Amino acid sequence: MVRDEDMVKGRICARCGRSVDRVIRGLCSSCFAEVYGVAKLPNQVNLVICRYCGSIRVKGVWSRGVEDSIEDTIRDVMFTILTEKLRPVEGLDYAWIDNVKIIPELHGPGIYSIIATIKGESEDVGISEDRVIRLKLDVGVCPACTNKITKRGYNAIVQVRSSSGKLSEEQRRGLERVLARLDPGIRSSIISIEEGRNGIDLLVDEISSARIIASKISSEMLGKTVEAYKLVGRRSDGKRKGRLTISVRLPDVKSGDVIRIGTKRYLIFGLGRGGLIAFNMEKGIEETIGTEDLWGRGFEHDQGVLSAKLLLVYKGNDTVLFTDPSRPEALVEYPISHVRTMVDGLREGFLYKVIRYGKLIYVIEELGMGVQENG
Ligand SMILES: [Zn+2]
Ligand SMILES: [Zn+2]
Repeated sequence: MVRDEDMVKGRICARCGRSVDRVIRGLCSSCFAEVYGVAKLPNQVNLVICRYCGSIRVKGVWSRGVEDSIEDTIRDVMFTILTEKLRPVEGLDYAWIDNVKIIPELHGPGIYSIIATIKGESEDVGISEDRVIRLKLDVGVCPACTNKITKRGYNAIVQVRSSSGKLSEEQRRGLERVLARLDPGIRSSIISIEEGRNGIDLLVDEISSARIIASKISSEMLGKTVEAYKLVGRRSDGKRKGRLTISVRLPDVKSGDVIRIGTKRYLIFGLGRGGLIAFNMEKGIEETIGTEDLWGRGFEHDQGVLSAKLLLVYKGNDTVLFTDPSRPEALVEYPISHVRTMVDGLREGFLYKVIRYGKLIYVIEELGMGVQENG
């Protein structure tokens, strides 16, 4: 609402010259925010997160977040810490933290940037500022988990392995993401995560939790699980004590690989909902390979189908023309209907990784601007 009084009070900002209703110390609110800021805040906040249960240590005290994800919990904690530490700059009546954002997305320990939106007020004039604050996130083990590890045994092991014998970086990251999204109650049942040369072992306190974890991993990463129960001794009451081992094998396939399932050949596009998205190379159509299809009859990498690097020299409405950069005189022509592509758009003058198979050409990856070699 604009009162007459305010109109009379119209002022000129001493810095930018804009005419505004009210000034704070001679400046408009955006100039004031730029020159003085809205509030005093620390430049960096250090937190420690428990690697097993996701509890966070703030000023020596460990506490479990109430939010579902670690990222939400940390945002919550940052909000509280910053609100506590914040002091409005001189000239403002109030200041508060309006919003906290983590950039980039939180994946694990490391250094992150937090963008805090700070708002303030001086005699009804609102003022706002975005401030970048460093978050240093370390991993540790909270006392509750230390207790569990030393006092309680584990009743199950989830062994995560790759079909190729060695987990790839991509698979390790994928596994980390699956574990980070587990329900906190289930996540806390993981007593220890042991990284070995062949893969990762999760030591789990309860068999039922281990089954949930294994099925989560295999459904999200298209794995195959096999259970084995082993006797490991007798308990004090004479009953036999056993331990369940669940092996989760992840398929070592990535975008651009050609695999054979039975007599069918597939060019892998990527992991989608419900399975691997792939081109059936016999038919030239996209299909989804589910867990059953993949593991039921077994699959193998087809090393016989080779890829090539070709330069796209022309793309018309009906046809495309490629050349081999080392033999630019030889043109390779395909009708558009025979081109299957895994890249966003075909661009003339660019090199592509392709597979020529039957009547079709599959464009797998763009390799950058092409250079024609002479001779
Ligand atoms: Zn100004
Ligand atoms: Zn813990």
